[in-house]
Amino acid sequence: MDEDKQIIVRLKEELAKQRAELGILYEISNAMRTTLRLDEILFAILTGVTAHVGLGFNRAILFLTHEKEGVIEAKMGLGAESGDEASQIWNKIEESKMDLEDLIMAYKLSGKMIDSKLNKLITGLKIPLTEEGGIIAVTALNGMVLQIQKDTIQNRPDDPIIKLLKPVEFVSVPLKSKNKVLGVLFADNIFTHKPIDNDDIRILMMFANQAGLAIENSFLYEQTVLQAQTDSLTKLWNHGYFQDTLEREINYAKHASSPLSLLLIDIDNFKNYNDTLGHQAGDKILSQIGAILKNSSRKLDYVCRYGGEEFAIILTRTGKLEAFDIAERLRNQIFNYLFWKEEIQPERKLTVSIGLANFPLDAEDKQQLLTRTDTSLYLAKKSGKNKTVVFES
Ligand code: GH3
Ligand code: MG
Ligand code: MG
Repeated sequence: MDEDKQIIVRLKEELAKQRAELGILYEISNAMRTTLRLDEILFAILTGVTAHVGLGFNRAILFLTHEKEGVIEAKMGLGAESGDEASQIWNKIEESKMDLEDLIMAYKLSGKMIDSKLNKLITGLKIPLTEEGGIIAVTALNGMVLQIQKDTIQNRPDDPIIKLLKPVEFVSVPLKSKNKVLGVLFADNIFTHKPIDNDDIRILMMFANQAGLAIENSFLYEQTVLQAQTDSLTKLWNHGYFQDTLEREINYAKHASSPLSLLLIDIDNFKNYNDTLGHQAGDKILSQIGAILKNSSRKLDYVCRYGGEEFAIILTRTGKLEAFDIAERLRNQIFNYLFWKEEIQPERKLTVSIGLANFPLDAEDKQQLLTRTDTSLYLAKKSGKNKTVVFES
């Protein structure tokens, strides 16, 4: 009889524990369903691994593989910087009864800043996807969980992740979708020194399966969004994205009291080129000019295909004089470029005309800025083409 009782007690304990685990998994998968944005998914995964309401690890880092580059890159790290801080943060969160969804919402509202030393220390770290890349790379290559204990850590002082994070014990878990390893999750208990047991690993593996799928969905989503914003011929931003961005950037410029300049660029006598050499030859020119504009622009500029043979460039934080210099540099680059059979053009060169206007100097709002830039372009055409005209009231 006594033995039976013991068995029942043990089974009850086991059941309670598994229920708790399922509860955690359920919470995490719900939290991951609230978004499709990659950075938010990564944050949700790491929060699930580190939060007390989740798996409760002290630190967690997410790596994503770049097969083409042959590296695995650290994308985000979450965790406290000291044991004290860890308990403070989580006590506070527990007091305010935040669940994982609340934590993710707080992250979105905070402007997505993770202002921790750990995150700064690791983001951008690239490890070669070979044996030399150490434990993280091997986890990705073999697609298997590695639990790394004291003796292994002592024997591998040069392993990039051991060198950087000085863990006492850790676990390295592959994040898979179908049969592909998308990334690796590192987790440890640097402050509490709580040993990582089989239950921890088991639940981490179940969680990793969900995380892998969530990351893959997010990849597909972000790819779709990008495609919807990109012009397929030139790979520049398309008209819709241009309109949205101009609106957003003008609002920003208003609030920040910073200038913004707009360029409209139109190919000169392009109908002649098309009619003589065919539409395909014309398309080639469009993608070549797109590439010239893109390659000669700064990171903060938005280079867009405005319409058929017209391009637009939003020059953020740029005054009128600087914008004129940029426009002239672009125009000259196109003038000096040797395009196929350009000698059939009236001036024996393929050229562009550019209109320029500035916010807030020339316009009060988006519509006015567009109209005035267009007026300048029209004047450039009327006064002989192959030139930049700056709006003057
Ligand atoms: P202007 O110097 O006044 O700009 O003369 P233009 O001939 O360039 O201007 P117009 O607006 O009369 O004609 C634009 C031509 O651009 C019409 C068409 O042949 C060509 N075009 C517009 N979109 C595309 C496109 O997507 N692909 C190709 N190949 N040609 C295009
Ligand atoms: Mg035109
Ligand atoms: Mg034209």
